[in-house]
Amino acid sequence: AKAAGRNRARVFTATMDEERRHKRSIERGLREALHTGDGLDVHFQPFVDRSGVRVIGVEALVRWRTADGTQVPPSDFVPVAEECGLIADLGWWVFERALGTCVRWPDLVLAVNCSAVQLRQDGFADRIVRLMERTGFDPARLEIEITETALLDAPEMQVRELDGLRAAGVRISLDDFGTGYSSLSHLHQFKIDRIKIDKSFVRKIGDGTDSDAIVRAVAGLGKSLRLAVTAEGVETATQFRVLVDAGCTEFQGYLFSRPVPAEDIDAMLNARAFAPA
Ligand code: C2E
Ligand code: MG
Ligand code: MG
Ligand code: MG
Repeated sequence: AKAAGRNRARVFTATMDEERRHKRSIERGLREALHTGDGLDVHFQPFVDRSGVRVIGVEALVRWRTADGTQVPPSDFVPVAEECGLIADLGWWVFERALGTCVRWPDLVLAVNCSAVQLRQDGFADRIVRLMERTGFDPARLEIEITETALLDAPEMQVRELDGLRAAGVRISLDDFGTGYSSLSHLHQFKIDRIKIDKSFVRKIGDGTDSDAIVRAVAGLGKSLRLAVTAEGVETATQFRVLVDAGCTEFQGYLFSRPVPAEDIDAMLNARAFAPA
């Protein structure tokens, strides 16, 4: 038993080393990418109304390809960027790129994901406001997406920055709704404008679990609180039907479009033939 324990400890240590090395290499690559601008990009995923064809807006999603051509998913590098202090630079890079790109779609809402670490920075709201002025971006078209877990750490500072943004006319959206804690009190405390039902619930629609009921309850809650309710991760026509029926107001997912480069959004808007697959 002792030997087994020792082996386990060794495996554990090896995994830790491996993980640390992996993180260090992500950190190094990301730092370089932020310095040169090489390999970083922003893609845009449309969200549509109940018709399924009218594009209401787009969500900006960061993309990173390393020097050797590997596409690293944000779920791998965003947490590392948060840990090693690069998230402020990265977040700012995304904001600049996204706003700069979206000025050419004056009818669309732009949603940008924002890390809790960024929100905790003094002057964050002011900086966004100045960027909107500089790029001529209408604040009423901007939505900041934050996660509820992100709001737990340092509420006071974040409330101040969020209030600053709201005062400027920016809307606040609660991402991945239902996966964090004390969701209901957050809706009240942070004056949220939109909730995004997490794709884990959407995925389970129709499989006999309680997901349909949960989705209905969340959409009903949103309606009572006069919030917009986006369903994310919509992949099938059946899911779409259930979600429309539940009262969701906007819909996002591969059924409508994957996240795509800006030029593809141009083409979509020009064609006006945008329809679910
Ligand atoms: P999120 O904000 O909840 O974004 C939605 C994620 O779901 C995106 O993954 C999107 O590609 C994916 N998705 C959209 N529709 C579908 C679908 O129908 N099926 C499935 N299976 N997935 C779908 P992505 O781009 O890999 O981003 C993952 C997460 O990384 C985001 O989750 C967000 O939390 C974070 N992230 C992405 N870009 C940024 C950024 O610029 N800044 C910050 N702070 N976080 C970001
Ligand atoms: Mg999001
Ligand atoms: Mg989400
Ligand atoms: Mg997410």
